Amino acid sequence: MNFNFTIQNVLIAVEDGYANVDVQVVDGTIAAIAPRLDVVGTAINGENKLLLPGFVNAHTHSSEMWQRGIMSALPLELWLAELYDFAPLEREKVYLSALGTAVETLLSGGTSVVDHLVLIPGKELETIATAVRAYREIGIRAFVAPLIQDESLTAGIPSGETQQNDSRLKSGNSSTALLTHEPYFRSTAATLELIEEAVRQFHRPDEGVSILVAPTGIQLCSDDLFEGCIELSDRYKLCRHSHLLETKAQEKLAQEKYGCSAVEHLKRIGYLGEFTTLAHCVWLTDADIAILAQTKSTVVHNPLSNLRLGSGIAPILKYRQAGVNVTFGCDGASSNDSQDLLEAIKIGSILHNVTDLDYQHWITPRQAVEMASLGGVKGLNLADQLGSLTVGKKADLVLYDLTSLSLLPRTDPIGLLVLGRPTNVVDSVWVNGKQIVADGQVTTINVQELRHSLFHHSQWEAQRKSQTVTQIEAHYRTVMGLSDE
Ligand SMILES: [Zn+2]
Repeated sequence: MNFNFTIQNVLIAVEDGYANVDVQVVDGTIAAIAPRLDVVGTAINGENKLLLPGFVNAHTHSSEMWQRGIMSALPLELWLAELYDFAPLEREKVYLSALGTAVETLLSGGTSVVDHLVLIPGKELETIATAVRAYREIGIRAFVAPLIQDESLTAGIPSGETQQNDSRLKSGNSSTALLTHEPYFRSTAATLELIEEAVRQFHRPDEGVSILVAPTGIQLCSDDLFEGCIELSDRYKLCRHSHLLETKAQEKLAQEKYGCSAVEHLKRIGYLGEFTTLAHCVWLTDADIAILAQTKSTVVHNPLSNLRLGSGIAPILKYRQAGVNVTFGCDGASSNDSQDLLEAIKIGSILHNVTDLDYQHWITPRQAVEMASLGGVKGLNLADQLGSLTVGKKADLVLYDLTSLSLLPRTDPIGLLVLGRPTNVVDSVWVNGKQIVADGQVTTINVQELRHSLFHHSQWEAQRKSQTVTQIEAHYRTVMGLSDE
């Protein structure tokens, strides 16, 4: 397919400010960037518009969209229990929320999405097929990371065995007894077979759909599962993804499980590396940070989710100073509760000004843009093909309308894009040279129809009660040292 166009007289960021240039795209690849080029293919008016490389929404869970706005104020471990008690189990909903996630990502500057996709039990391949279909239809570059585990939910909460002397545990109150874990319903081997089959059926990087291996994290996965994923990723050249030390509880759990930090353990079994992206990374020690730098692993910063669930503030400025690659994710819409990438980038940039007095380390808007674009594709093994406006790279591009009210009056376009509250500012989006947003509208799917479907597949809700939360809350409070008053 031929995707040829020339964006004329558009603003781009250069070393010492901005320049007005023409950008030629031939066969989906950036062919030239210079003032007053010949028009190749379709001419696009770039006047008063800013062109940036597309961002990566580097960690999300698309089907969480069905529960945005309703989740209780709970920390991750209890929040997950509530989430799974009400998880949608229909393919149609998986399809619609993948489309919804893609639309919101595209209209907030993203051209790629990493979907750590929650699978419908017993219909795992169908779930993956459904999300893949949605992403192909809309045309966003998709990294589908089927979320797998081989331990049941309660195994993700520390047992508190190191706190045997705690009087509340000795009290004999059954609500504080250690949790017993049901075996997970699917074997580790069956899970790995499933992922391999997903790779065979859906891993088509040249067509914009990649499968990642993505054990959910050390809290719910055995070493056998991690090692199986490593083997698959080596054999099929797949990138690796996982949650890592999102909460204080997980830090405790890692010590109980391995007698060392989760990072040390993952390094020992060989899961870390240049194409491993790790969501959250809130509770790492300085030694852990050195390991991430040494293994060239990527941290995906999900600031809104970390605030919403009270997980903590990830030491992002330390990562950057240690040379660790950092990028941004929205995380699932049940812990955010949106998929606005520009919002995540804004909060993820300025949040750290309160943790580090040395303002020389604070993240500037231009650094934030680079983290969101080049930083995102680095961990996905695509830095040589995407992530910057460079001749020879693929045209995953976003054009922002600088005459939009929220980007006025005219000051520093990137400064206002990152630090302001941009609304309806995305004019056009191309992925691999194919235009999928024009005049602020997604052109590949019918968004009105999507709105209609999202409306009719849901209902207004206010109060609901999670049974699992009721069952495990007392144990969680004891282990985490929370008083019962
Ligand atoms: Zn997540």
